[in-house]
Amino acid sequence: MKIRAQIAMVLNLDKCIGCHTCSVTCKNVWTNREGMEYAWFNNVETKPGIGYPKDWENQKRWNGGWVRRRNGTIEPRIGGKWRVLAKIFANPDLPEIDDYYEPFTFDYEHLQTAPEMEAMPTARPRSLVTGERMEKIAWGPNWEEILGGEFEKRSADYNFEGVEKEIYGAFENTFMMYLPRLCEHCLNPTCVAACLSGAIYKREEDGIVLIDQDKCRGWRMCVSGCPYKKIYYNWSSGKSEKCIFCFPRIEAGQPTVCSETCVGRIRYLGVVLYDADRIAEAASVADERDLYQAQLSLFLDPGDPEVIAQARADGVPDSWLEAARRSPVWKMAMEWRVAFPLHPEYRTLPMVWYVPPLSPIQSAVAAGRMGTDGAMPDVRSLRIPLRYLANLLTAGDERPVALALERMLAMRGYMRAKTIEGVLDEGLA
Ligand code: SF4
Ligand code: SF4
Repeated sequence: MKIRAQIAMVLNLDKCIGCHTCSVTCKNVWTNREGMEYAWFNNVETKPGIGYPKDWENQKRWNGGWVRRRNGTIEPRIGGKWRVLAKIFANPDLPEIDDYYEPFTFDYEHLQTAPEMEAMPTARPRSLVTGERMEKIAWGPNWEEILGGEFEKRSADYNFEGVEKEIYGAFENTFMMYLPRLCEHCLNPTCVAACLSGAIYKREEDGIVLIDQDKCRGWRMCVSGCPYKKIYYNWSSGKSEKCIFCFPRIEAGQPTVCSETCVGRIRYLGVVLYDADRIAEAASVADERDLYQAQLSLFLDPGDPEVIAQARADGVPDSWLEAARRSPVWKMAMEWRVAFPLHPEYRTLPMVWYVPPLSPIQSAVAAGRMGTDGAMPDVRSLRIPLRYLANLLTAGDERPVALALERMLAMRGYMRAKTIEGVLDEGLA
């Protein structure tokens, strides 16, 4: 066993209000430069939806992540070194600028100049590129801002990841949630495996994945290889860039910019200890639906004296051991089992985890279709179908997600029933 420490993040999706403050503050600090105009190290997309860049979850199109071979080993879907070398000349699998971003503004002038009419005038979105109204031409990672009533018509275009499309066929059944995304600082990163120049590396001390700008030759195989599409090519410098998990701030004991500025306070930072010797074993389990549990099995109890002794022997400093002991990430992922990895089926062992939104299950409880006794809810009784959340977070295994939602529901009931300054809220008890 070889113990390593990893800085990780959990995002509570119930609390994200889609304000994009995290994206804007990150951009101001890290990508407010020529060549990176289109790049958002942190973006917030509306789900279900095609995301940013467009269709990023479609690995058959982009060749991202790892695939498991018949002999049980895994290799990057983009191929081994020789296949990658051949692909350089064919320039494969790369999103184009139109796949990333169509900047738009709102038609504010219309509010002042509209003729007298029965209804209030509204400021419609307008493309900054063509000047045209967005309803006619747009796609967007935040369709609810620009498409509104068009969603029903457009739903056939979206990738609903195995959930029957008829669920969304009627307006009253549509749903949405926000998904903030950044580089996952994976335990088994395909960007590192795909880089021919050896420019991408994972730091020993905290697991942050970085690109050495002096070594990068701009081949962009990392852009193809990353299944989360979280590496961006800087057209001005000719190098690839990515989220650096605000490492200068982390080293100074400060949180990442996105965490510090998050309006909804949805982001929790923490350290986890894991067994680095078992990464290949965990990433190559045969059944995709076991990948979430396989990743959990890598994490080590930071309160266990044997783990602490071994971690010290492996060079983990005491300050990081203390951080691991107090880590909210450990608590939410391991003790409470309410946090999950994003798309574990990509086999990169991502380290930005998510608490699923509680709201769908609440509506089911309100309608009397579900209790808090551990029984599986009927997927069709939930506003956001359980299967959709499971496809996003556990490669389709619904049971752990259902249990997490029930656990959070019980916690919410308990907290609401507690007395506040001696007064019992009887209405909610
Ligand atoms: Fe690399 Fe980050 Fe992509 Fe993981 S999410 S493969 S660490 S760029
Ligand atoms: Fe969501 Fe926080 Fe980002 Fe606002 S700042 S969009 S609440 S993650």
